[in-house]
Amino acid sequence: MINSVSLEAPAKINLYLSVLGRIATGPYAGYHDLDMLMQSISLRDFITIEKRQGPSVLTVSSSRQGAVVPEDEHNLAMKAWRLLQQQYHLPEGVTIRIEKHIPVGAGLAGGSSDAAAVLKGINQLFSLGLSLDALAQMGASLGGDVPFCVYQGLARAEGMGERLTLLPGLPPRDCVLVNPGIMVLTSEIFCAYDIMEESKISCGGYQEIKQAVARDFFSGLSWERVEEQLQNDLEAAAVAHYPVIAEIKEDLQAIGLSPFMSGSGPSVIAFWQGDAKRALIEERIVPKWPITVFCQTL
Ligand code: ATP
Repeated sequence: MINSVSLEAPAKINLYLSVLGRIATGPYAGYHDLDMLMQSISLRDFITIEKRQGPSVLTVSSSRQGAVVPEDEHNLAMKAWRLLQQQYHLPEGVTIRIEKHIPVGAGLAGGSSDAAAVLKGINQLFSLGLSLDALAQMGASLGGDVPFCVYQGLARAEGMGERLTLLPGLPPRDCVLVNPGIMVLTSEIFCAYDIMEESKISCGGYQEIKQAVARDFFSGLSWERVEEQLQNDLEAAAVAHYPVIAEIKEDLQAIGLSPFMSGSGPSVIAFWQGDAKRALIEERIVPKWPITVFCQTL
């Protein structure tokens, strides 16, 4: 019998994010209907879960100052534990330790990935024998990004993110992630998006056009094709609220990179190749933007 498990919780980036409109029916009716290409990256949190006598506890240590992560029942990792505990009548308690490296409120699904790791960890620790599909399905009630974070890798996520098409992984790519050190609320950006884009969403044919693009896109996916389609429908709204996102993009463009925003922002990512480019990033980007992370797609 095992008493503790250690897991890695990788961040995700959105290679594209399209807002198709609103979900018409079902449990997510009224929410934005999304079409996203999600990719796990090597930036990750570390999670340890241990059985303990007495009430469950959660601790968070962070490599960054000022990261606001709840250390109670509001933490998504704790919610993931409670979900399985209640469903499978598991005894108190566990200690969950999160070593946080993923910036918080950053469009990188840090909380969702921690929750997904806890679902997998509890499954191991209590020998529940649940499949990834079962964990992903349960995880959807915690947040739209949780199912993807259960599987990781590369996937198309539709609806709220719960409808996943897992895709064969592409060769790892070097990327640089720049975060301005501000927390962005996803709901705030969707509100701003609605105000800016309402006319387009309601305009007939818009949804069909986007779906047609997606169909072509998926027949024979390659990095070349992904790079042609990197786009994020939330970017204009996020930039309107946080102009610093545009500033980061300009700085990355100035050294010849093609940056794009992840999720609802504010993190910006760019692929790069070669020592000369890396040197330029170190020289011009790192000193100005302290949260600059070199990472790889998984
Ligand atoms: P998404 O892209 O899925 O919307 P995000 O990456 O933008 O998520 P998170 O880092 O997951 O944002 O944080 C969003 C909110 O969740 C914050 O207010 C944070 O305090 C809260 N939160 C709860 N649990 C966690 C956790 N384990 N790690 C980080 N944030 C958490």
